[in-house]
Amino acid sequence: MKLITEGNINSYYLQTLCMLFFPRAKFSNTETIGPDTPVAIVKVTSMETTAYAEASLTMGERTVIKYYSEDYKPDTPKGNTDSIAGSKAFFAAATEFCKYNPPWGILTGVRPTKLAFDRLESGMTKEQAVKSLRADYLLYPKKAILSVDIAKYESKIIKNYTEKDCSIYVSIPFCPTRCAYCSFVSYTTPKLLSLIPEYLKTMMTELKLLSSLIKDLGMNVVTVYIGGGTPTTLDEKQLDTLLSCIDGCFDTANLHEYTVEAGRADTINKEKLKICKAHNVSRISVNPQTLCDQVLQNVGRMHTVQQFYKAFDIAKASEIPHINTDLIIGLPGDNFNIYSSTIEKIVDLSPDNITAHTYAAKKSSALTVSGSELFTEDYRELAKCVDYTQIITKSSGYVPYYMYRQKNSAGNLENVGFCKKGTECIYNILMMEEVHTIFAVGAGAVTKLTKNNKKMIKRVFNPKYPYEYLAQDREEEFKKLTETTSSFFDI
Ligand code: SF4
Repeated sequence: MKLITEGNINSYYLQTLCMLFFPRAKFSNTETIGPDTPVAIVKVTSMETTAYAEASLTMGERTVIKYYSEDYKPDTPKGNTDSIAGSKAFFAAATEFCKYNPPWGILTGVRPTKLAFDRLESGMTKEQAVKSLRADYLLYPKKAILSVDIAKYESKIIKNYTEKDCSIYVSIPFCPTRCAYCSFVSYTTPKLLSLIPEYLKTMMTELKLLSSLIKDLGMNVVTVYIGGGTPTTLDEKQLDTLLSCIDGCFDTANLHEYTVEAGRADTINKEKLKICKAHNVSRISVNPQTLCDQVLQNVGRMHTVQQFYKAFDIAKASEIPHINTDLIIGLPGDNFNIYSSTIEKIVDLSPDNITAHTYAAKKSSALTVSGSELFTEDYRELAKCVDYTQIITKSSGYVPYYMYRQKNSAGNLENVGFCKKGTECIYNILMMEEVHTIFAVGAGAVTKLTKNNKKMIKRVFNPKYPYEYLAQDREEEFKKLTETTSSFFDI
C-alpha cells in the first residue's frame, strides 16, 4: 500500500488505520503502483481555529475523496487535532471505498475504557460519555456503551482500593509445549524445562526480598496472581514449595484474591489443585481456547476437548471458589458455527468468569511466520463472533467487567472478561486500570510503581528470558529495585 501524507499527521497511526481496511498492507514509498495497490493521500491544513483535512483512496480506476474539519479545543494540542482531522477524513474515504465500517472507529489504543473513565470522572453521565466517545472516535454505539458500562463496573471495584494497597505478579515462563499462535517467551523444550528448580529457587529469593520491601513501605498486599506461561507446568512438589514460600511472604489467608492461571488442561490434575486449595488459592483458569479438536490441532495446542472437560471437572471438584475459562476468536479452522457452539457449551458449564480474546497476530509466532493466522480476513465474521459472545453471556447472567485490546488484534476487535456479578477478577481490573502498584517477580516480570492517582507510573523490568534472569545476582538486582522504589515513593 502507498500512503502519502501532508501536514501535521501521525503517519504511524494512519498506517494502523489503513490496516483496518487492508489487513496485510505493507507500506513502501518505492513500491510500483499496480491496479491492486491501494493509494491513500491525506493532507491536513492548519488554519487559525480549525484543521481542514482531505483524504483520497484510489485503487485502479476507482477513487473516493472525503473532507473533514475539526475545530481546535483549548485543552487539546493542535498537532493532535490535525492528526485526528486527517484520520477522520481517511476513515470516511476508506469506509465508503471498502464498504466496511470498523466497529471501534478510529480508536486504536489498547485501553478503550480509559477514555470512558476520563469522561465519567469529568462529570459526564453515561449518555453523555457514550455520545462523546462516538463523536470523538466514531465508535459504533454498542462499543461506546460497552466501554462506559465496563468503566462503571470497574469503578465500583476500584473505589475499594488505595495506593497503600498493592498486588503481586509471579511469573512462571514455562509451558509443556508451544502453541502456534504464541510468541510469549515461554520455555518449552526438555532442556529448558530442566531449569525450573533453579528458577524457582532464585524467584523465591526475590519473593522474600520483596516481602521485606513491602513491609518497609507499609503497603498492604491485596491480590496475588501467578501467571505464565503455564504455572501448572510445575510438578506437585514444585507447586507446593512455591505456594508455601508465598504463604511465608504474604498473608494469603486474608488476600482479596489469589489466582493461579493453570491454563492448559494437559497440566492440571487433582493433586495440584488440592495443593492450590490448601494454600488459599481462590481463582483458577482452565483455558480451552476452543472446543473443537481440529482447531486445537491447527494451533498446536497439545490437548483435546475431552481433556479440557476433565480438567474443568477437577477444577470444580477442587472447590477453589472461582474458575475462569479463556477463549480465542479467529483461530485458523474456526468459523462462526464452530465458535458459537464453543461459547454455548462454555456457558452451559457455567464458570464464574469467561474471557473472550480476539486473535492477535504476534510477529514471531509460528502461525504468523507461516502466514496462516486467521480463519477469515472478513472482519465482519469475527465481529459476529464477538457480538454473539456478548449476547449469549448477557442472556446467561454474565456482565462484561474488563476489557483491553492487543496490538494487531484482528479487526481491531476487543478482548473482554465476563463475570457473574461479584466474581470478577480483581487483579485484572487493578492491573488494567493502573490503580495501584503491582510488584512482579520472575523472568519477563514488569513491576509497575504507581502514585498520585495514576499520574506517576514507573516500570521496572526484570530480564525477559529465564536464562538471563538466572545469570544475574538477584540480591544485587533487588537492591536496585529497592532504591528505585524508595526514591519513587519518597521514603
Ligand atoms: S500455553 Fe499459553 S503461554 Fe504457553 S505456549 Fe500456549 S499460549 Fe503460549
